[in-house]
Amino acid sequence: MNTIELPVATNSLRTRMFINGSWVAAKSGAQLPVYNPATGEVLAHVPDADANDVNDAVSSAVHTFKSEAWRRMPPVKREAILLRLADLLEENANELAELETLNNGKLLIYSRMVEVGASAQWLRYMAGWATKINGTTLDLSLPMPPQVRVRASTQRVPVGVVGAIIPWNFPLLMAVWKIAPALACGNTVVLKPAEETPLTALRLGELALEAGLPPGALNVITGRGEIAGNALVQHPQVNKIAFTGSTEVGRIIGAACGQNLKAVSLELGGKSPVIVLSDCDPQQAAEGAAAAIFFNHGQVCTAGSRLYIHESIYEDVLERMKDIAESIVLGAGLDKDVQMGPMVSAKHYENVLQHIRNGLDDGAELVCGGAERPLPHGYFVKPTIFANRNKKDIRLLTQEVFGPVLIATPFSSVEEVLDEANSSIYGLGASVWTNNMSAALRLADELEAGTVWINTHNMVDPNLPFGGFKASGVGREHGAAAVEHYTETRSLVIAY
Ligand code: NAP
Ligand code: MG
Repeated sequence: MNTIELPVATNSLRTRMFINGSWVAAKSGAQLPVYNPATGEVLAHVPDADANDVNDAVSSAVHTFKSEAWRRMPPVKREAILLRLADLLEENANELAELETLNNGKLLIYSRMVEVGASAQWLRYMAGWATKINGTTLDLSLPMPPQVRVRASTQRVPVGVVGAIIPWNFPLLMAVWKIAPALACGNTVVLKPAEETPLTALRLGELALEAGLPPGALNVITGRGEIAGNALVQHPQVNKIAFTGSTEVGRIIGAACGQNLKAVSLELGGKSPVIVLSDCDPQQAAEGAAAAIFFNHGQVCTAGSRLYIHESIYEDVLERMKDIAESIVLGAGLDKDVQMGPMVSAKHYENVLQHIRNGLDDGAELVCGGAERPLPHGYFVKPTIFANRNKKDIRLLTQEVFGPVLIATPFSSVEEVLDEANSSIYGLGASVWTNNMSAALRLADELEAGTVWINTHNMVDPNLPFGGFKASGVGREHGAAAVEHYTETRSLVIAY
């Protein structure tokens, strides 16, 4: 295999969790194995935190929040620390990227560009908000008693302790999507990475301390969702939960936060449609649609997993997509010649294979790929395309796979494809491919999706609100919306 030199990341495997600026084991002593999904080998062990450990992390976050150390630090200093953290990510880019690829399986180039590169940009963008949080001055209509004058204003204040719970598909980037705006607004954070991928989050906590963040402002607890995640959600001193993950777990967390009247934002699953209109160049359409589903091995919440192609070019586009899918080289993300890595875990690998078997059972026609093991070791799934020429009722049309599995359906009219695109319970992303801008914008006006792309897919930006309609979530991340997420509004009235 054409790998890079011995990974430097193996020197920086952290085997404890990060509470109040120190490395600690779980009080129970329990540990969880962390795997390399390209080989199935154990990479490291991390603490298996329970409610006692979560309580320590929350206490540390509460203590730092109440102190002057972070919340009352001049915003320009908070900004400088977050900018320094962005620089530190870049200075340690090789190590972080290798660590991410070893743990998550994704290609090294994406670990560098997306996990490290985009995370640094997100930190810089959010750092800028620290100095731009403002309120309003208001006229009131009902001063009491009538001769009294009033001056009213609003102030945005941090919510307090934020519990951030994230998935495994973009481990470092998802951590930064949560911690950057939360910290910029003056909150303190307890972060729980996914049990599969805790390693870069632990390094992030350490680098944040090096950047000048006070101890306790960012705590990273490792462990399982039902135990550590649940303890964070239930903790009375956690003021807000910011969650990204599956719709199934989102429902549990949303219900618990409703019961406890705790602020919550939910970024959940998707089944995003890709709509190719009749005027498209078939090769460009095939390349765009292949990138929409196969990027990050399909482990993307906005993955373009339902493809709708106009019937006039359906067979042509499908044939070209088959060629693209069959040319994709599978292997370890550290191998420079590889174009697609493994699924993140043995469990997820089995889930994805089950979805492929469901497609076969439901009568979808296999165009390429399938459920056979392509490599002797690791959790690899072949890029898989199903055709749905007879427009059957197939589970692949409704259930999120979160892997490199596509179902392609022909359509004859714009009205028909719009109905089908909007028939999902999800509403995270959608893309339209055409040179007919009027048709594209008319579709965009009606698509039930938090983001609609035209002639591109999966494009995100720190300045662009991101989130879901329907079962894809509640709330928006990024842009100015992030400040609303991580602050409360306090109204102030002065009588004179
Ligand atoms: P998941 O099973 O929902 O887990 C997400 C996180 O929640 C993990 O840290 C998990 O811990 C934790 N968790 C599980 N049960 C919990 C509970 N009862 N209480 C508190 N925390 C709990 O999702 P996943 O399999 O890691 O990630 C894939 C999913 O994320 C997909 O559905 C995808 O669409 C979605 N996603 C959405 C977005 C978006 O922005 N909308 C982005 C990326 C991914 P464990 O690791 O221990 O299970
Ligand atoms: Mg999980």
